[in-house]
Amino acid sequence: MTDVLGVAWQERVVKGASHFGVTVSGKTSKALALYARELLAWNAKCNLTAITDPMEVAEKHMVDALAVVPHIPAESRLLDIGTGGGFPGIPASMMDETLSVTLVDAVRKKVSFLKHVARALKLPQVEAIHARAELLSKEEGRGKGYDVVTSRAFSSIDAFVKMALPFVKPQGRIIAMKGSALKEDETVLTACLKELEAEGVHFSVEVIPYTLPFSGSGRSLFVLTLHSH
Ligand code: SAH
Repeated sequence: MTDVLGVAWQERVVKGASHFGVTVSGKTSKALALYARELLAWNAKCNLTAITDPMEVAEKHMVDALAVVPHIPAESRLLDIGTGGGFPGIPASMMDETLSVTLVDAVRKKVSFLKHVARALKLPQVEAIHARAELLSKEEGRGKGYDVVTSRAFSSIDAFVKMALPFVKPQGRIIAMKGSALKEDETVLTACLKELEAEGVHFSVEVIPYTLPFSGSGRSLFVLTLHSH
């Protein structure tokens, strides 16, 4: 097994992220390596990821998660719904210490892992919550409380947008990280936004298809900015 703490692993992350114009410092690539080590160590009991090859983890989890970083303004309050093992919330928090990051997942063991990582890697700006996201927006300070709401590989895009909406501040963003089914996602999103417009909710939308740098796998980012609510 490749040593995730080794130079080759960290170089892969740095090189991969540069593909999106994202600069990863030596300190951050080390932190990401420590995170990957914990992810793989806990995976046996927690089912955090189907990807177990460290080099694949570097690309398909770390580098992929970093693709969202340019779309998150500094000092944002960020909510990552269905974060699982912490993607993209944990890598985003490591890239920008001005972010305040709430990770939410419905599976308790995953949240235990996230709390462990936040403690072990000294990420005081990260909180991990065990909840179903649809119930969390009722909690004080959460509704309309976030600048950015993200998810990756979470659900259909319309279900996510509707789930995320109660959390978003006016002018805030919803960012969905999706796979390669770009056309289908676009069709579903268009119908969903039409429905929301009828209710007076308006978004501007940026669709950003991209490929992962080493495998060439297709992904897409949907960045929705709220204009009225
Ligand atoms: N974002 C991660 C995990 C994706 S898997 C990644 O990209 O690797 C989807 C995750 O969503 C699972 O961990 C599941 O437990 C969680 N989940 C599903 N429904 C949820 C809900 N209603 N609220 C919060 N988390 C949920």
